[in-house]
Amino acid sequence: MEDTFRHKGLRKRLVETLKSKGIKDETVLEAINLIPRHFFLDKAFEEKAYEDQAMPIDEGQTISQPYTVAYQTELLMPKKRIKILEIGTGSGYQAAILGIMGARVYTVERHELLYQKAKKIIDSLGLLNVRCYFGDGNKGLGEFAPFDRILLTCAATEIPQLLLKQLSIGGMMVLPLGDSNFQIMTRVTKLTEDEFKYEKFDKFRFVPFLSGKNEIN
Ligand code: SAH
Repeated sequence: MEDTFRHKGLRKRLVETLKSKGIKDETVLEAINLIPRHFFLDKAFEEKAYEDQAMPIDEGQTISQPYTVAYQTELLMPKKRIKILEIGTGSGYQAAILGIMGARVYTVERHELLYQKAKKIIDSLGLLNVRCYFGDGNKGLGEFAPFDRILLTCAATEIPQLLLKQLSIGGMMVLPLGDSNFQIMTRVTKLTEDEFKYEKFDKFRFVPFLSGKNEIN
């Protein structure tokens, strides 16, 4: 797939839209400006790739709205070389955004098909600091813990305790927390091994955080 001047122009417009909706972090806006979102969508949706909308991907899942990606990324405060665990790779777009910002990204997806597709695009972009895994995000990735940040891009009904254990002291987890109707964006900071700070932000609507894996037959 090609990244043409037209795509780049549409991306600049998207960045302006996100600014007007309240996204301030220049490093986040620059990442949105750099990553070709149309690479992560089927050809049929290419025309809509730079509208501020969620879009269908395979397996009945969605690529998050660019505003939501920018919002979660801003709350997560990524920095170069820190370790980030993302649960819910989906298209791989959010992982690519974190990757281009210089973090070491570990992203987990429960649908094998989505995992394979995302890995291919991320590899083709040369993002060597983003590693994709096929598995159940409920388990996290114990072998690479602790993580400085954990990001859930699917809706959790409660804070996953096992994932909190895989967070470093001083680390932060950002997750949409609530029922299937809506979730409150929540940021949990791990102060000590058993003390946490909780902050609540705006309402969103994500696809659910499920259990188990879904292999290609
Ligand atoms: N971050 C994605 C948006 C993904 S939508 C993007 O940028 O495109 C949420 C994803 O979470 C879906 O792909 C869904 O399959 C996945 N998911 C849900 N429960 C999961 C679990 N237990 N482990 C891993 N992935 C999960």
